[in-house]
Amino acid sequence: MFKDIRDSLSRTRRSVFGQIVNVLGMGEIDDETWEDLEALLIQADMGIATTMDLIETLHKRVDTEGMHSSDQLLQALKEEMRGILTDSPDFQLEESRQLTVVMVVGVNGSGKTTSIGKLAHYYTKLNRKVIIAAGDTFRAAAIDQLRIWSERADVPLIAGQPGGDPAAVAYDGIRASRARGYDLLFIDTAGRLHTKFNLMLELEKVYGVCRKSVHAAPHEVLLVLDAPTGQNALTQAEKFKESVNVTGVVLAKLDSTSKGGMVFPIYRELGLPVRFIGTGEGLEDLAPFDADLFIDSLFEA
Ligand code: GDP
Repeated sequence: MFKDIRDSLSRTRRSVFGQIVNVLGMGEIDDETWEDLEALLIQADMGIATTMDLIETLHKRVDTEGMHSSDQLLQALKEEMRGILTDSPDFQLEESRQLTVVMVVGVNGSGKTTSIGKLAHYYTKLNRKVIIAAGDTFRAAAIDQLRIWSERADVPLIAGQPGGDPAAVAYDGIRASRARGYDLLFIDTAGRLHTKFNLMLELEKVYGVCRKSVHAAPHEVLLVLDAPTGQNALTQAEKFKESVNVTGVVLAKLDSTSKGGMVFPIYRELGLPVRFIGTGEGLEDLAPFDADLFIDSLFEA
């Protein structure tokens, strides 16, 4: 049903991990091997800290395990990379309860609207009764865009007036879900970071309404990150984490970048699991994140 993660990673594989396989594919480990490996990991947007850590761990393993050939090093690299993608807590979105409330946050342009539409479609196909609340009231266009996606996904949209109170829209969404028997509510939120508008305060208000209105809500707070923006996205993520309890990441546009290495600092530096990846602009271009498949897809020929 959904596009294979392998297709989406073809750029990352071609530009970076394919080269790693070439560098480590033959011969003995020497200084050049280490230099090339380090440069390529940084190029893949693994981030300096994660790259340095990996290199250090691999150096130790080469010494203690007496590795000589670079194909052994390649194997060790894959193992260490897999190790970074630690087991995630249970994904609350998939637990059964009367009403699951999910806040979706992220800066404008990250792919938030598109991701909400895809998620609505994905869970509808899994027989959930999905509803969306248009909590980005700042721009009329945001509500219109979300309406288009809700129609594509064939789920109802609860929206207020442009300029209205997003916390009130969240509340209306919760009320409508209960009254009409929907069990999965996605709440869209505003996403402008660099204006006078106090985004974080607004997110806290929406978060507060969820907490007060539904037991243990919001059950997930998904942060949509724009994969092509690399390290910038990680900096933004830190800001969101300061104001709301972000529980997971949707990594959008993984198909349009070679920066697939970003997944690693998301786990290691942000301490967040990646739950879904965006694999294109269509309704079905979303894939649940699978760590084993991800590692295999990065390195396969
Ligand atoms: P928002 O402002 O965060 O709501 O962002 P949008 O959902 O409007 O998306 C911004 C742009 O990114 C649009 O042109 C989308 O088609 C595009 N986009 C979103 N997700 C993906 C994806 O997974 N892959 C690709 N290639 N494009 C995407």
